[in-house]
Amino acid sequence: MTPPIEYDPDAVHTSVLTFRWVVRRTGDDAQYEASGTCPVCTCPMTRTWVFGQPPVAKGGFFNRREEPGPAPFHTLCQCRTLHMNRPASEPRGCGALLTIAAPPSPGQSGATP
Ligand SMILES: [Zn+2]
Ligand SMILES: [Zn+2]
Repeated sequence: MTPPIEYDPDAVHTSVLTFRWVVRRTGDDAQYEASGTCPVCTCPMTRTWVFGQPPVAKGGFFNRREEPGPAPFHTLCQCRTLHMNRPASEPRGCGALLTIAAPPSPGQSGATP
């Protein structure tokens, strides 16, 4: 048995991970859901991004892009495992910052199995 790892806000996983993407479109908005395994704590995790019209035009950007684009995505680990010493402000994850490869470009339509 491996002991549960502690929450570590300084953990950074630098290599780009390939997660499984699920895209849902609602009107002008698109919801991109990335699922995979956090390499730091080895728990499964899912993170969702929403693209479309930014809700606020001036100033605020809210981490929204209009389209995903080719740049990798950054997210804190969002696993549901309770890691020790996790601050109350962080409801999920082990604290690791992960880099996820961007989803395939949405050019082609058609159903994905
Ligand atoms: Zn975890
Ligand atoms: Zn993790």
